[in-house]
Amino acid sequence: MIYTNWGRTLRFSPSAYLLPKREEEIAQIILRACEEKKSVRVVGAGHSWTPLIETDGYLISLDRLQGAISFSPKEGLGTLWAGTRLHRAFSLLWKEGFSLANQGDIDKQSLAGAFSTGTHGTGKEFGILATQVAHYRVIDGRGRVHDFYADGQSHLFRALQVSLGLLGVITQVTLRVLPRYYLRLIKRIEPLEAVLEKSEAYLQEHRHFEFFWFPYSEVALVKLTDLSETPGRTSLWRRWAIDDVWENGAFWILNKLAQWRPRSAPSLCRFAGRNMAAEERVDKAYRIFASPRRVRFREMEYSVPAALGPVVMQEIRRWIEKHQPAVSFPIEYRYVKGDNIPLSPAYGGDRVFIAVHMYYRMPYEAYFKGIEEIFQAYEGRPHWGKMHTASTEYLYKVYPEMESFLKIQKEMDPEGIFWTSYLRGLLWGERSSVLAYS
Ligand SMILES: Cc1cc2nc3c(=O)[nH]c(=O)nc-3n(C[C@H](O)[C@H](O)[C@H](O)COP(=O)(O)OP(=O)(O)OC[C@H]3O[C@@H](n4cnc5c(N)ncnc54)[C@H](O)[C@@H]3O)c2cc1C
Repeated sequence: MIYTNWGRTLRFSPSAYLLPKREEEIAQIILRACEEKKSVRVVGAGHSWTPLIETDGYLISLDRLQGAISFSPKEGLGTLWAGTRLHRAFSLLWKEGFSLANQGDIDKQSLAGAFSTGTHGTGKEFGILATQVAHYRVIDGRGRVHDFYADGQSHLFRALQVSLGLLGVITQVTLRVLPRYYLRLIKRIEPLEAVLEKSEAYLQEHRHFEFFWFPYSEVALVKLTDLSETPGRTSLWRRWAIDDVWENGAFWILNKLAQWRPRSAPSLCRFAGRNMAAEERVDKAYRIFASPRRVRFREMEYSVPAALGPVVMQEIRRWIEKHQPAVSFPIEYRYVKGDNIPLSPAYGGDRVFIAVHMYYRMPYEAYFKGIEEIFQAYEGRPHWGKMHTASTEYLYKVYPEMESFLKIQKEMDPEGIFWTSYLRGLLWGERSSVLAYS
């Protein structure tokens, strides 16, 4: 079996790809791996770019452990199998009368996979998605089952909230849910300078605020999202015209042109920026949050202290003007509320997350390397699932609770079955196996 991820950055053969249907089967796989001294990794939807799931041992998928387990409307809680894909989880919740308070940009990931890397959305009131979890059930590296609660063993719970699959196999998650609601999304083009100036006001005035800046252009696509008192539904025709034809179909052609003629990338990027569709729509919350992303790309994203976001963005702009990389994808700018989760990129205070992208068939190395130097100059923290070359030393500097996380890891996985050469390189400093931009 050869496993390939969404971003086409990984291609590997595990010794077995296993699809357990029950928790007991997972415990058995773990015990077998301990005996055979094999590594175990769990894959969600394979939507990370970094080799977190790569193993020559057992690769477990929870695709057969999907769906709802129970709901407690009074407490505002819903328990689901951890392998449930987000789009399925959101529509199941809606049918029961619930929504999540916040989501990310797409809904293809699995619940446990999204939580385990610190996946986030945007908005001043909202932390990374894992802050919406109230309980995890996890099977540790000796096959023992644990239930951890947000108000229980807090250091273990906090470590599990972003755990990179290193603390065990998460099998169930209980989510804090809200009564279901509708959102109004406004998308419009504005000059980048004006957006940066107004960013604090937008952040305070709107439930969710983010923008996409198209390199080489003066403009950004601003997305402002708020609760809607009235229900609404975007027509299928409109969704097809804007989401499929324009934002994916036309954008794909533009990227193919950039791949064919890299020198045309700046003018294509300018063209895309000026011609993004402004629109306003109301729909079920989960539909407004998620956008279809059909043009494959590579991505690097770092978080920086929120107050420094505009400064970092201006530096990135200057770097692009100076070095003229062939890039035809926009740069995304989002806000996340600070938390106390040891491996969260939002640990210790509010952060701005800035993401750079490159069409997957175009060289990205020099571009990402240049921008990564800017991120690191501001003590940025990389998104664990997205491309980066942060050294172990650097990660220890920006994640002050790294050591306590690794202590908990040892308790949960005394045989070390969840480690792989990539993860040892990343967190222990065995550099030979870490990604490097040539
Ligand atoms: C098109 C696209 C859009 C994206 N948009 C966003 C966004 O808006 N915001 C954002 O922050 N990120 C975003 N991401 C990144 C993505 O959310 C993360 O990389 C996420 O971790 C992927 O989830 P997954 O289910 O595919 O997990 P995988 O990539 O398969 O796995 C991720 C990690 O989770 C672990 N894991 C998976 N399941 C379990 C389990 N049951 N128990 C224990 N560990 C487990 C894996 O071992 C691995 O370490 C995007 C990625 C893509 C490709």
